Amino acid sequence: MLEKFLLDSLKDIYWAEKHLLKALPKLTKAATSPELKQAFTNHVEVTQEQIARLDQAFELLGKKAQAKKCDAMEGITKEAEGIIEETEKGTKTRDVALIMACQKVEHYEIATYGGLVQLTKTMGKNELSELFAQTLAEEKEADQILTDVAENNINIQAQAE
Ligand code: ZN
Ligand code: FE
Ligand code: FE
Ligand code: FE
Repeated sequence: MLEKFLLDSLKDIYWAEKHLLKALPKLTKAATSPELKQAFTNHVEVTQEQIARLDQAFELLGKKAQAKKCDAMEGITKEAEGIIEETEKGTKTRDVALIMACQKVEHYEIATYGGLVQLTKTMGKNELSELFAQTLAEEKEADQILTDVAENNINIQAQAE
């Protein structure tokens, strides 16, 4: 039963990462600050590696890589796209809102990979647990980069608008 739950969780985050990969270019295009555009662009590459790591995880389990719709990621990215419609192009206000939306993505991923690290550790699947720990560290880093981008100017500039 736990094996099945693990596999379902993998399918869910597999879908989520792939969905994010499609959403990131839209967010990059909508962002104004070069630092924020850069942060989004960098996360595209990171996300591609994370998807490759998930392919490896399926392989280690002897299962075919398969995606199953993640309602949470669909909702969070929908919210991010809603922000683009509700804010004005070229404003720092939009950037602040985009950062907050993306940090929600990162926190969802942190919760997921944190859970997967613990679950696979408990199940004695150490190779899997190490794979997920690598991704977990990257998601935490992405979250921190977004905090730094917000604190270095964007929040203050948005307040002036
Ligand atoms: Zn992701
Ligand atoms: Fe990710
Ligand atoms: Fe999910
Ligand atoms: Fe991420």
